[in-house]
Amino acid sequence: MARRYQIALKHFKDIAASEQKGWPDHQWHGEIENCDVCSRPMKDEQFMIDGPAEAGPSPMWGNICVICACKYSPKVGWGKAQLYERDGDGIWRLVAGGPPA
Ligand SMILES: [Zn+2]
Repeated sequence: MARRYQIALKHFKDIAASEQKGWPDHQWHGEIENCDVCSRPMKDEQFMIDGPAEAGPSPMWGNICVICACKYSPKVGWGKAQLYERDGDGIWRLVAGGPPA
């Protein structure tokens, strides 16, 4: 695995680990085949970020991989970006940056 990928993965692993809240009922509905930015297949990815997918003051949002998220949406939080982790059944579960209670 490329070093750049390892660094990106660790960045989001740390965010997931430090998140205090949980959203057990929140999952992503719909298929995500590829990263919206780099087209990396998402089926083997651990994390998916729903957040800004381009630079600039009013970026479009997308479902993106850890590498692209490090570039465009490294900060996770409500209104910034949401972090999803794929479970054993292939369901993307919200693990960080969800709506406040
Ligand atoms: Zn990507």
